[in-house]
Amino acid sequence: MMLLSIIVLAGCSASEEPRIYSIQGPIMGTQYHVKVVLPAEREALLPQLKQGIFDALTEVDQLMSTYKPSSEVSRFNAVKELTWFELSPATFEVVKRSQELSENTGGAFDITVGPLVNLWGFGPQRRADEAPLPEQIQQVREYVGYQLLELDESRRAIRKRHPELYIDLSAIAKGYAVDQVAEYLQGQSVNDFLVEVGGEIRVNGQKPGGELWRLAIEVPQPEQRAIEGIVELTGKAMATSGDYRNYYEKDGKRYSHTIAPPTGYPITHTLAAVSVIHESCATADALATAFMVMGTQQAMEYAVEQGIAAYFIDRVDNEFVTVQTEQFKQFLK
Ligand code: FAD
Repeated sequence: MMLLSIIVLAGCSASEEPRIYSIQGPIMGTQYHVKVVLPAEREALLPQLKQGIFDALTEVDQLMSTYKPSSEVSRFNAVKELTWFELSPATFEVVKRSQELSENTGGAFDITVGPLVNLWGFGPQRRADEAPLPEQIQQVREYVGYQLLELDESRRAIRKRHPELYIDLSAIAKGYAVDQVAEYLQGQSVNDFLVEVGGEIRVNGQKPGGELWRLAIEVPQPEQRAIEGIVELTGKAMATSGDYRNYYEKDGKRYSHTIAPPTGYPITHTLAAVSVIHESCATADALATAFMVMGTQQAMEYAVEQGIAAYFIDRVDNEFVTVQTEQFKQFLK
């Protein structure tokens, strides 16, 4: 059931200014919110936009979910033979981009981390309450590593180098879904919009009256919704990853859903959240996770070297300390 609510901008008459219309609903275990700016004479387009947005998101879910046994990714994960598995263009594009980012980030971002995510209880068989034994982690690490996944562009196919290899696109596919909706809207000549799926956002054009889109960066603490910073943006995406929403604590230790593939353990440094601004929401999504794995110092060096707009929030003695790259500063208000 999708809600189509209309938010009418205060202080404008129906005939003068375009309006902001909101379209939202559940997807991928989270929510999507889309705001489109339309002149009154295009209001009749809304039902078609609603359906097109839903179709774009549902397609990504049906291809890339590890929560749906029938998805393309789940069917690949279930194969135990070391044979080529042909993918749809969309999934191949995401897997190819993922492998490039794994190469680029020294394996900090790695979609083959899925068995470790599941072992630590953050996968579809949610069981986030008990840390696995070191020998279990060692055993699973034998089939984690992006080098164990082969790609063949000519066949548009991938192949396992270990029968238990299992890919998890949770850290890039939501961002990719945001990009797909943005491209769908622009294909409908709707160029002023905000698209958000589970915290990954892409904005374009402007709000009625010519204002840029204002996005909040929240304070990384689960018990309250407070704002750490405001970003003004257009024509770009912003993705945020953190250790404060999806975690569990055991014997005074916090285990978050971001796993460092080289060790097989959840991250343990002080970085609580990171936001990345990029043209591609998929890339921003993946880099935010990679930076969570790297920790602030290593990620900051990488971001400065690559000219990436990144904003880091560290938890130091119950205080939050922020640092950002020059590229990010221009967006902060
Ligand atoms: P991000 O930092 O963006 O991603 C963290 C996630 O990435 C972790 O949960 C883990 O899965 C993975 N990961 C951890 N470490 C690494 C690493 N080093 N490199 C790469 N990846 C890593 N959730 C549900 O509860 N129900 C659903 O039906 C459901 N369906 C989904 C369908 C799709 C297509 C996708 C992409 C996700 C789905 N999810 C579902 C998962 C849910 O949306 C995730 O919690 C969310 O994707 C994690 O995003 P995040 O922004 O919280 O964290």
